[in-house]
Amino acid sequence: MKIPDRLLINGSFCAAASGKTFSVTNPATEETLGAVAAAGESDVERAVSGAQMAYETSWRDMAPGKRTQILFKFAELLRTHAEKLAQLEMLNIGKPISDSRDEIGLGARIFEYYAGAVTKFYGQTIPVARGGFDFTLPQPLGVIAAIVPWNFPFPITCWKVAPALATGNCVVVKPASLSPLTALRLGEIGMEAGLPSGVLQIVPGPGSKAGEALVLHPHVRKISFTGSTAVGTRLMELAARGLKPVGLELGGKSPNIVFADADLEQAAVSSPMSVFANTGQDCCARSRMFVERPVYDKFVDLFSAAMAKLVVGDPAKPETQIGPLVSAAQRQITEEYLQSAGTPRHKIIGGGRLPGKGFFSRPAIVLGCEPADKIWREEIFGPVVCIRPFDREADMLAEVNASPYGLSGSLWTNDLRRALRVAGKVESGVLSINCHNSVHVETPFGGFKQSGFGRDHGMKAMESFTELKNIYVAP
Ligand code: NAP
Repeated sequence: MKIPDRLLINGSFCAAASGKTFSVTNPATEETLGAVAAAGESDVERAVSGAQMAYETSWRDMAPGKRTQILFKFAELLRTHAEKLAQLEMLNIGKPISDSRDEIGLGARIFEYYAGAVTKFYGQTIPVARGGFDFTLPQPLGVIAAIVPWNFPFPITCWKVAPALATGNCVVVKPASLSPLTALRLGEIGMEAGLPSGVLQIVPGPGSKAGEALVLHPHVRKISFTGSTAVGTRLMELAARGLKPVGLELGGKSPNIVFADADLEQAAVSSPMSVFANTGQDCCARSRMFVERPVYDKFVDLFSAAMAKLVVGDPAKPETQIGPLVSAAQRQITEEYLQSAGTPRHKIIGGGRLPGKGFFSRPAIVLGCEPADKIWREEIFGPVVCIRPFDREADMLAEVNASPYGLSGSLWTNDLRRALRVAGKVESGVLSINCHNSVHVETPFGGFKQSGFGRDHGMKAMESFTELKNIYVAP
């Protein structure tokens, strides 16, 4: 398959001004897929200036109905090109083809949702005491920088780009260096859908150069970032220099809480994929399990049996559930965490590499953790779950909330009062009861504490890409 390998700036594909490139690898085979242009400061300058020009001359003032039409066309074309996009994502990051297909479909649904939202997002009229006429007007910000990670490259790019465009902004996307391919295709499909040139620019390149140049550019009015807490912190410092708003979707170490009265079978059968899906490279991975002591042993047996049935291997096969990790470095990190749990008190079930090429790592369960263990506290981003028993609800909640993260989580119980009581006390931006669904196009998604702030998805995302102007007309 020919891979997209050049920057998309002002409606044309081009090499980086420096001529620099970086290589992209298929993690399932360790083969190089090709070399992609690496944007530097001058490319970012051109991309942001072009986006600013497109904002002022075409997109901001386009009739909402016309913007709606283009975004619906965008969604339709994503569906037309879905299979090729899914294959590209699978080759680039080793995501199993069935997941890749689902995520391209999710991207199309995101564009449909926001295409429809263009004409359903409006201000208010406010009866002010002195009379006259007062109304609010949500207005676009201008140029948005969207900085995206490699674990869900396509849907995360879509969930930043679609609401930003729907509200009249232009967007410059910096994909992760490990996963630039579907973002470049997204930009091309946007042009086919009728986006005026410059409205959506795609500039792969190193975060420390292209990413920072983007954040610091005076015409960038907001940074929408998804990635690690360390880089999010750095971006907030840089954005502070220009007093720019940032939306940060960061790391996680999400709990999965199982009470003794839960439907144990259902919890145990569904929980492995709540942490091992995407090979554990998921900010919402339920990687810390809290199981009430009376059912702990039974739950561990059921969970282990369900884990053993997972199909790990070639991401091109439709039956594969777990592909490779994205890189040799990511596998090394996972293995180091497992080594840290190599003491006599710990027990590891599963784990280990697959023979042959590819950065594969089998899912693993770690038992016997203590709260101070780094494997229990830190985000691993690999297929590892730690399971601990608990006795008292209050102690369990204290340990759940001791994490600096607060993104997602699950809670299993058939006692409605307990479910609502505990759900209200878990410090996380999203929580699922008796299931593991965290992400819905229609509902706000984001974190508490060091998992970030701001909300993606739903109408909250539309708000996040606008500023509210209040206009008062004298009586
Ligand atoms: P990352 O290292 O923070 O990188 C994310 C993006 O930031 C990449 O495009 C990266 O570019 C760029 N970047 C790196 N340094 C930068 C800098 N100094 N200035 C500007 N941009 C910079 O994260 P990752 O390894 O790709 O993704 C994994 C992390 O993302 C995990 O912590 C995960 O939990 C988090 N995540 C969170 C969510 C959520 O919704 N909360 C969703 C998915 C992932 P390069 O690739 O060129 O370095």
